[in-house]
Amino acid sequence: MDLRSSPEAEAFRVRVRAFLAEHLPADWPGIGALPADEAAEFVAAWRKTLYANGLLGLAWPTEYGGQGMTKLEQVVLVEECARAMVPLGPARDTISVKMVGNTLLRWGTEEQKRAFLPRILSGEDSWCQGFSEPNAGSDLAGLTTRAVLDGDEWVIDGQKIWTSFATEADWIFVLARTDPIVPKHRGITFLLCPMTTPGIDVRPIRMLTGGSEFNEVFFTGARIPAANVVGPVHGGWAVAMSLLGHERGEEAALNPIMFRHEHDRLVALAREHGRIGEPVIREQLAWCFERVEIMRLLGMRILTQYLRDGDLGPAASISKLYWSEYHKVVANLAMQIMGPVGLVPEGHVPPRAYRTDDPGAPNSTASWEHIWMLNAASGTVYAGTSQVQRNILGESILGLPKEPPVG
Ligand SMILES: Cc1cc2nc3c(=O)[nH]c(=O)nc-3n(C[C@H](O)[C@H](O)[C@H](O)COP(=O)(O)OP(=O)(O)OC[C@H]3O[C@@H](n4cnc5c(N)ncnc54)[C@H](O)[C@@H]3O)c2cc1C
Repeated sequence: MDLRSSPEAEAFRVRVRAFLAEHLPADWPGIGALPADEAAEFVAAWRKTLYANGLLGLAWPTEYGGQGMTKLEQVVLVEECARAMVPLGPARDTISVKMVGNTLLRWGTEEQKRAFLPRILSGEDSWCQGFSEPNAGSDLAGLTTRAVLDGDEWVIDGQKIWTSFATEADWIFVLARTDPIVPKHRGITFLLCPMTTPGIDVRPIRMLTGGSEFNEVFFTGARIPAANVVGPVHGGWAVAMSLLGHERGEEAALNPIMFRHEHDRLVALAREHGRIGEPVIREQLAWCFERVEIMRLLGMRILTQYLRDGDLGPAASISKLYWSEYHKVVANLAMQIMGPVGLVPEGHVPPRAYRTDDPGAPNSTASWEHIWMLNAASGTVYAGTSQVQRNILGESILGLPKEPPVG
């Protein structure tokens, strides 16, 4: 682990702090403190401010709209914004900028990079992820959505599910089976598809909370140009795997800060409910604090490797497993602190069904109940379930034999 930061990165940190001091209101309480509609408006305007000041796509080449800096500057920006309790943009940017943007940088043709990347950074185009299917989640390579080349077009038929942001996205990237005969990982292609394509039908899925963040996306004879392939035809599996890795580098920097904000909120909750003096509660709060510190040290180790060789390795699975399982414990502790009162949801509700509530959010029964029922539970599912992470760690770090195929 190398904990030193370069003089350039520290100079950049000073610049970011000055930018935040200049552009955030003087008494900024954190994004979570704003009412939901104001927060959404603020985030949209804030994204534009970041873009106008050259703070999006820091590590992307300038010819595609980026700033030509390094990943270290990007990490510094993530850290400083997290400390200032302000996001870098709306949640869907994770899919647009981090996932598909970085994947196009690595695998896209020159034409694709010039066409898509500047529009992703400017916010003109937003994307959604068409990977999971009703019978292909953890076993993603078992997907059955088909794409057949017909002249100079791909024709897509099949169904995707759990597609976040599909109702608001302009584009979807789709994994489709293009060769049904070869072994399943080798016959998949990564396709780019406008959401306005005739033959695409988006159906929102209603969640426990009444919200609809996920969708089903049906493809019935949807036609897209043959050129909308990223990476080799039938070679989409490698493209998909590199896409899934892109999210994790910045997370290593973000998670410890985000969960530290949440821990402060949990301590305040124990005070508000008059339970801060109870030894059992204090012991559990201390246990949670230690875990956040471990997350910080683990994050440094991951970042060292990420910045050195751009590769996260199996440590990314340790991190995913660690924070998501930790978050379930925190959510349970919050419910225990509130007692039966916590079962009556009142007050502020988190804006999303994943991660924690926004920093600065007031403590409320609705917030913690939502985190307990949805956010913490879903954290152990998306981006690879806990069981899948354990399999990866068992095989890649412990050298255990591969899991025998089922069926
Ligand atoms: C908040 C959220 C957002 C999401 N957004 C998107 C999105 O935008 N686009 C998209 O494509 N998908 C999205 N997903 C879907 C997500 O990728 C899948 O839910 C995930 O891959 C798990 O697949 P599954 O739900 O089919 O569960 P399954 O794979 O059916 O798993 C069911 C259970 O079996 C266990 N299991 C499965 N295989 C094994 C194994 N080999 N060994 C041990 N246990 C196993 C799992 O751990 C799990 O507990 C999202 C999910 C969530 C929760």
